[in-house]
Amino acid sequence: MSSSADPKFDAYKERFVEALWKTYPGWASSVGYHNYDSVLVVPDEAARQRELAFSKAHLDSLAQFDPAELSDNNRIDLQMMKAQLESAVWAINEWRSHEWDPSQFNVSGAFAEILNGSYDSLDNRLRNIYRKLANVPAYYEAARKSIVNPTQEHTELAIEQTLGGVSVLEQDLADALLKSALGEDEKRQMKERATLAVTAMRGYADWLKALRPGADGWRSFRVGKERYSRKFEYDIQSRYTAEEVYGKALARKKELHGKMYLLADSLWAKYLGATPRPSDSLQLIRSVIDKISLTHTTPDSFQAAIERQIPVLVQFIKDKNLIYLDPSRPLVVRKEPAYMAGVAGASINAPGPYDKGANTYYNVGSLSGWPNDKAESFLREYNHYTLQILNIHEAIPGHYTQLVYSNQSPSIIKAILGNGTMIEGWAVYTELMMLENGYGNNEPEMWLMYYKWNLRSTCNTILDHDVHVNNLSKEAAMHLLVNEAFQQEAEAAGKWRRATLTQVQLCSYFTGFMEIYDLREEWKARQGGKFDLKAFHEKFLGYGSAPVKYIREMMLKEAGE
Ligand code: ZN
Ligand code: ZN
Repeated sequence: MSSSADPKFDAYKERFVEALWKTYPGWASSVGYHNYDSVLVVPDEAARQRELAFSKAHLDSLAQFDPAELSDNNRIDLQMMKAQLESAVWAINEWRSHEWDPSQFNVSGAFAEILNGSYDSLDNRLRNIYRKLANVPAYYEAARKSIVNPTQEHTELAIEQTLGGVSVLEQDLADALLKSALGEDEKRQMKERATLAVTAMRGYADWLKALRPGADGWRSFRVGKERYSRKFEYDIQSRYTAEEVYGKALARKKELHGKMYLLADSLWAKYLGATPRPSDSLQLIRSVIDKISLTHTTPDSFQAAIERQIPVLVQFIKDKNLIYLDPSRPLVVRKEPAYMAGVAGASINAPGPYDKGANTYYNVGSLSGWPNDKAESFLREYNHYTLQILNIHEAIPGHYTQLVYSNQSPSIIKAILGNGTMIEGWAVYTELMMLENGYGNNEPEMWLMYYKWNLRSTCNTILDHDVHVNNLSKEAAMHLLVNEAFQQEAEAAGKWRRATLTQVQLCSYFTGFMEIYDLREEWKARQGGKFDLKAFHEKFLGYGSAPVKYIREMMLKEAGE
């Protein structure tokens, strides 16, 4: 398939990535490219014009390549680059969140990443921080100028996060300076700049606190049908529209309720004995789920329970021949480092494209010091059954396994512009795939809790769409999440808040899941007797973190040959 167009395109991609990092130094640092760590872009109109010029120039360059002449992998790269550039233009010209989302202006995360990094000596990192600090006052000055009519929700979030981030430049930086070998003069200058930066941050928070709604009130956090659909196209990159995915999610919710009712009904006597069955089927499901959720680990054994799971999952995958797992890249389970503390549960900390050799960590939050009732509620949510599904999703064969394959894909473009819908969709797909293959011994409890878990992704999509397009009230949202998705009040309230602050990201889980599942079934039908699940998984992941619709085109084209 490769032709003379490919070497030319490969060379162009390298130039593109270099230019991308020059234009977006903060993004560069976050993926492990540290040449521009010392640069802080002041987010003013001139910076936005530079970004627009960058995007337009590269869209022109891309137009000179004929996709038909490129290899499959390069063709996908080209489409992903084009989508990224078009989305960047749209974000500045149409979406304009720099006018209404004050929380997008925050420097503390970038400083925290450099402070906590291990890629260079502390003193070198501190010198980059010193240079970067110079622009902080101008940064927040530009932020104020760019905000026109913010939403109340994003304003409150910005105040909270700005003040929350002050400790990075006060406490964390001071702690690092104590450990540093820099001279006293350098340290003093650094402290002076940090003080000015903190003053700018507090000033920004004060300015936000003093903002009052205009004559028409605050801007609504609901983005409306048209803007929602466009953002869905750019971010989700599905072959379906937002409206179509929403319809599929509604149908899936109904299907799940039906399956859950049958299981809960069959488990009633085991868990509730002679208690009369409620006439409302959702209440019946809820009662059984509440009982099953009482089977859970203890706060002290939470990390050990997760650790024990990993080899069990690996063995099951080998026994059932589901996908090749590279034994040279083991997953390291660790207690969540202090600087990321606060979020319980578990998450994958993956090496970026410039640091492929580094360890992948499975960070497990500690429950020590939690009040008893909070820990109990958390452990019921992550009970004996859902904890296993969580491990499938986050670790093996979910995010962690996908990441190992993605890092083996030679394309830097797919690593940098990785499609979140494919990444989340894969993790959600593996939950079902494992159970289909007998993980959990087909126990009805396991399936019921799985369906509850799957209902969460499904209702994320419904919630997001209804909040932004259909004016869903908070009361109706809480009803959906608590009564129809069986969530705890606190979890549901958190999800409502997330839906008011983000747009379309909540759809990625269900959309990716459905697209991957459908692709597998299509592929299976075409392959007939030749179908091999392991081969399907390895082939699918071999394309890297590309949108499922592009992978689908390639795979089905090949299957048709
Ligand atoms: Zn308990
Ligand atoms: Zn995930």
